[in-house]
Amino acid sequence: MTDAPRTHCELAIVGGGPAGLAAAALAAELGVETILFDEQPTPGGQIYRNIEANSRKHDALSNILGADYAKGLALVERFRRSGAAYEPLSAVWQVSAAGKLGVSRKGRAYLTRAGRVILATGAMERPVPIPGWTLPGVMGAGAAQTLMKASGLVPEEPTVIAGSGPLAYLVALQLMKAGAPLSAVIDTSQKGLFETGFAALPVLSGFGRDLLKGLSWMAALRKARIPVFSGRNLAVEGISRVEAVSFETRGKRQRLSASLLLLHEGVVPNNQITASLRCRHVWDTAQMAWRPWTDEWGATSTELVAVAGDGAGISGARAAAHRGRLAALDAACRIGRISRAERDERALPERRHLQREARFRAFLDSTYCPTEAVRRLADEAIACRCEEVTAGELRAFVAEGFTDINQLKSFSRCGMGQCQGRMCGGTVARVLAQSLETDMETVGYYRLRPPVKPLPVAQLAELGNAERDLRPSPLGVDGDPSQRV
Ligand SMILES: Cc1cc2nc3c(=O)[nH]c(=O)nc-3n(C[C@H](O)[C@H](O)[C@H](O)COP(=O)(O)OP(=O)(O)OC[C@H]3O[C@@H](n4cnc5c(N)ncnc54)[C@H](O)[C@@H]3O)c2cc1C
Repeated sequence: MTDAPRTHCELAIVGGGPAGLAAAALAAELGVETILFDEQPTPGGQIYRNIEANSRKHDALSNILGADYAKGLALVERFRRSGAAYEPLSAVWQVSAAGKLGVSRKGRAYLTRAGRVILATGAMERPVPIPGWTLPGVMGAGAAQTLMKASGLVPEEPTVIAGSGPLAYLVALQLMKAGAPLSAVIDTSQKGLFETGFAALPVLSGFGRDLLKGLSWMAALRKARIPVFSGRNLAVEGISRVEAVSFETRGKRQRLSASLLLLHEGVVPNNQITASLRCRHVWDTAQMAWRPWTDEWGATSTELVAVAGDGAGISGARAAAHRGRLAALDAACRIGRISRAERDERALPERRHLQREARFRAFLDSTYCPTEAVRRLADEAIACRCEEVTAGELRAFVAEGFTDINQLKSFSRCGMGQCQGRMCGGTVARVLAQSLETDMETVGYYRLRPPVKPLPVAQLAELGNAERDLRPSPLGVDGDPSQRV
């Protein structure tokens, strides 16, 4: 990393997870002048966070994080060797349709121009807005895992994990192995992995290892006598912090004491940048989330911008790397480093792997519906935590006639806080859709404006007027609801 900001490049990649690392490595190997920007201090993204330091240590933590985590090292090493430039601790707060990036690094904002941009911004945990979810002591299971990977931090208080999906069980197992006092897991999924896996065996051939891995995590918890409940309609109890979590199980309400409650209902694409660019988006019914529309190379409806990895729709770490390489091949072809024939030829193995991954993803999507995150919110539940707006307050606005999501944003201030709508966007849209008895496509999503990451005004002021031509493109603002994100 150099200290002077780079002012231009042929290809800018945002995000240093499997998609961004794979894309940057291949593009640089093909001779494309590539810069990878990532807000984290080290490469790896969510799944392989801090992989270089943790794998060097060969300690208990690297054993706990397991073989799947260790696989990330090869990806990082190839990226390091590739010659791609790397800008860690660099938050990209804006991308323009003309390929200008606004970057904030070391307390300074600057602009970079790129011939092409690949957004590999990954996923974020789906917010789970149950009553009491904003109390201290409630956090995402993935966030707890982040603390463990980044700093070796492990909970010391009685911990309950509640949610649905493989990551909930993986984190439970990792925390248990790391010595956290895990008192229970509340599984909110509608269907059990064993039954659904058995029923889906014909389409899951080749994924026996993945299926067995999931079942072995559950078995390990049972062996350690960690109670696993099947529960729904969760509510957090506590006055100044979480004291307990209650839930329905077998027709009765049950209560478990907890000092730390880790919620997880899957992950959703982190699409703040494509939304601010007014790229066309589509509602993914299976994943219950918006994702940018892309062609088979990850190109979006905005000419210079492609998306790869979970930011283009949740597909997991292996698929993210394949999608990153496809986007890199297309970039190298557009920039003139390889021919279309070479691009297509090199893409074949990536596509074969992707098709295979898609079968398993479809199985995961149908097994792990995020029930708790999408059910009707209680009036007192907070929908927007930055501005502390409840679902009941939103319903009152709708009753007064504020039936457009952006009107609701303006009047309720939801989406105008620190997170710029990342945490509340889906929830506010859902409350609106439920109130109007319509669907998410009809409601659309917030009209987002840059900066998509918090940026001190002082840094913006130093930029002077240079950011003027960074206005979002007018794409996607017509009457087509799929373009309203
Ligand atoms: C908290 C969490 C934990 C997870 N843990 C696991 C796990 O243990 N095992 C597993 O199989 N899957 C896990 N997943 C899912 C897994 O992360 C993804 O399937 C996979 O990493 C997707 O890769 P990606 O390259 O698309 O994105 P990511 O790995 O998410 O990488 C995206 C990167 O982009 C950066 N970024 C985002 N926006 C900006 C911006 N504006 N400017 C600069 N940088 C930016 C992020 O900080 C991140 O480093 C986890 C997901 C989350 C959200």
